[in-house]
Order: sequence, then structure tokens, then C-alpha cells
Amino acid sequence: MSQLIVAKFGGTSVANAQAMDLCATLLEQNPATRVAVLSASSGVTNILVTLANGEQAPESRIALLQQLTKIQKSLLTSLGDPETLTRHIDDILRYIKKLSDSAAISPTKALHDEIVAQGELMSTRIFVELLRQRNIAAHWFDVRKVMRTDDRFAHANPDLATLKAEVEKELLPLCDNQLVITQGFIGAAADGRTTTLGRGGSDFSAALLAEALNASAIQIWTDVPGIYTTDPRLVSDARPIAEISFSEASEMATFGAKVLHPATLQPAVRQHIPVFVGSSKAPEAGGTWIRSRTDNQPLFRALALRRNQVLLTLTNQSMFQVHGFLAEVFGILAKHKISVDLITTSVISVSLTLDCGAELLTEEVKAELSKHCHLQVEQDLALVALIGNRMSEVSGTATQLFKVLEDINIRMICYGASAHNLCFLIPEDTAGEVISRLHHSLLPA
Ligand code: ADP
Ligand code: ASP
Ligand code: MG
Repeated sequence: MSQLIVAKFGGTSVANAQAMDLCATLLEQNPATRVAVLSASSGVTNILVTLANGEQAPESRIALLQQLTKIQKSLLTSLGDPETLTRHIDDILRYIKKLSDSAAISPTKALHDEIVAQGELMSTRIFVELLRQRNIAAHWFDVRKVMRTDDRFAHANPDLATLKAEVEKELLPLCDNQLVITQGFIGAAADGRTTTLGRGGSDFSAALLAEALNASAIQIWTDVPGIYTTDPRLVSDARPIAEISFSEASEMATFGAKVLHPATLQPAVRQHIPVFVGSSKAPEAGGTWIRSRTDNQPLFRALALRRNQVLLTLTNQSMFQVHGFLAEVFGILAKHKISVDLITTSVISVSLTLDCGAELLTEEVKAELSKHCHLQVEQDLALVALIGNRMSEVSGTATQLFKVLEDINIRMICYGASAHNLCFLIPEDTAGEVISRLHHSLLPA
């Protein structure tokens, strides 16, 4: 195949029949797009996650199931309640009810993913019917056939070699003469049990499939016309970026720009696949191209914000000139699968942030760490990242930034490890103000 494009449609793009219709038009207008990867309809995954976590109160479970049914039924009604599909969706809704009742008694990680995955399984079925009614030939494909992962439920890691082999065998031949509609976010462990790749993981799924298919481009269709200089919900002056490098966009995604799942660009970088981000509601507004290289490499490109940060400070008076302390600390964190994000050290202490937030920092982990040092845990922090180019090579970068924030208590700074990023921790309640001031002064229109 000369050109094969993989498109991903996010939750708002498939929220209702009207939104789905716009996606269908985009696919009709882009015959090179042979694979469309869908999220669950907006709001569905949140409901499923609450049910999967074992919502206890039967009345709350009923209310959630009703909400879920309402979203699916309104889609079906817009399509004229097609009989076979309606029966199929009803079966899935009953299945979700049965599994949620089990989760309320004994929630397990495997059950969690089986429940949460149903959102993408439903949206893709409904979208295929919508395409059929518009006379667009489309094949529904269960991505679990090819998206093989480990069994780290809720955060599963794809097995790239198996993915590639299975895609070549199962998926590629289907793309020859029809459009294939499949699920983002979900996969299957070697034993066949359903897994999920982490919240927002559909972007990552699309990129992984594009890599395995040798695609020429990836399109991420969402609710904003591109990647902005900062989250447009935070700063009204934020503006879309026409072209950005993989390095800069990866930093943005890693440091909180929700528009892309943090892992999305890894497969694209490996295969040099350009990525386009645009709005399915306003494709004419254009969008952002993410490429290996860009002509324009401004010193300051964008700002990203990650809330709910946890800062651990581990102090050990005898750490001075003693080896092995850091290895001990990181060993404990690694054993509990907690990944460390930022790190600064002093002679007798080390401060680090965890990219999981507080959720994995259990009493057991704290007790283990406390055996080796004094442990201080600070919460209610936010991480701000300034993203750009050659920032560590240009004098005055930090001055420009910090003079705008003279009255803000900056808790930790990381600068120099990447030329594309300078980041720091601030009290969570100042985050909106900090982003707004920095955008105004460093990224003026
Ligand atoms: P989807 O459901 O399509 O995956 P998401 O909600 O995950 O959409 O991502 C889109 C949202 O990302 C936007 O509505 C916007 O609020 C947010 N966002 C955060 N940072 C940025 C940014 N720098 N540029 C564009 N959008 C951003
Ligand atoms: N539906 C999943 C979520 O809401 C995956 C995605 O939309 O990317 O997290
Ligand atoms: Mg998303």
C-alpha cells in the first residue's frame, strides 16, 4: 500500500451521532486513512472506572448504569434503533451490570480492565453502523487480536514484537480494500484477558498501530484545532502551534498537556511518522504537525501543567560520603513499581516527585522508606514545565522566568537535564496564576 494513514478519534469526537457524523465525513474525504482508532464516547470511561473500582452503594451503581445506558441509547436512537446493534449493545450493558455487581463484592484488577474496555467496544460498534448507513464500507476489528500486552492491568505495556507480527497477519490484509474501525486504549494479555493502556491511552494505541502498519502519518482528531502554547482552558490567549518537533511535543505530553497521551510519540519517533493534531469539529481550522525536525525552533514554545504532585524528601544524616543510599531508596520504589519523575539532591537529602501522584505511595512503601531515612511527604503541589529549544545554552533563561514569579514560593527546580525543558514545583493553588503570568510574559501573541 503506497500510503496508509491511521486516524484516532477521541471521546468528544465520538460523543454523539452528530460528532460521529463529522468523523465519518473526515474519513470519506481522506481515502488514505485506512484505520480509525476510537475512544469511548465522552464520559463513558469515567462511569466505567467508578463501577470497576467496586462502587459499593447499589443505588449509585444503578444511577451510573442509567447514565451509561442513556449515552448509548441516545446514539442508537439517532441511528434509528437498528435491531441487531441495539440487541448487541443491550447485551454489553447487561454484561457491564453483571461485572459491576461482582466488582462491588470483590474488585480485581483484571475485572477492572474488562469493565472499562467495554466503552471502546461499544463506540466502535456504533460507529461502524453509522458508516454503514452512510454507505461507507467499514470492518469492525477487535484490537485485542493484535494489541498484546503484559498483564499490568490498567497500565499494560504492549509487546511490540507480537503486535507487529499480529498486525501484519491479522490487520494489514484487511486494510487493502476497506476501512477498518478499531478500539484505542484496550489490549489483551498473553492469556487473552483484557487489559488497558492507561487513561487517555487511545492516542498511544493509534501510534502503536501506525508503527506496526508502517503508516505514513497519524492523525489525532480531538476537540481543539492543534497543540496550543498552553492549555486553552487555562489561558484564553493560548494559540495553536502550526509545527512542533517530536522532542518538544513529547516534553509537553509528559509534563501534562492532556491533548496527547505521554507515550504517544514514542512509536512515531521510532518510525519517523509525522503526527497531525486537529479538531474533528473544525478540520478547516487546521492543526499542528509534529515532525522530527522543524524550521522554527523558538527559545520558548509552550507551557504545560501537571496537578496533584507529590514531593518526597528523604533525609539521612549519614548519607554524606556514604555510597548506596540512593540505590536503596530507588530499589524500594522500583520494587513497588513507582516511577520517579524529578529529582534534586543535597549532601544529606534527596527530593523527588512521583509521576503517579499519591496513589501508589502506600503506608507499606512509606514504612519501608522510613527504615532508611527520615521521610517528608508534601502534597497540594503542581508542576509547571516551560518547553522550548536550547534553553540550557542561552544565558538569562531562568532570570526571565523567575522575575515574573518573584512572589511565588517555588518548591523545587529542575533545569539543565534537557535542553527542551525547565520545570518547577509550586503550590497547587497558584498554578492558574503562574501559567497565566508566564504565558503573558514569555509567549506573548
Ligand atoms: P480526546 O478525548 O480527544 O483525547 P482530551 O480531552 O484527552 O481529548 O485532550 C484534549 C484537551 O487537552 C483539550 O480540550 C485541552 O483542554 C487539553 N489540553 C491541555 N493542554 C493542551 C495544549 N497545550 N494544547 C491543546 N490542548 C491542550
Ligand atoms: N477512553 C479512555 C479514557 O477516557 C481512553 C482514551 O480516551 O484515550 O481514558
Ligand atoms: Mg485524550
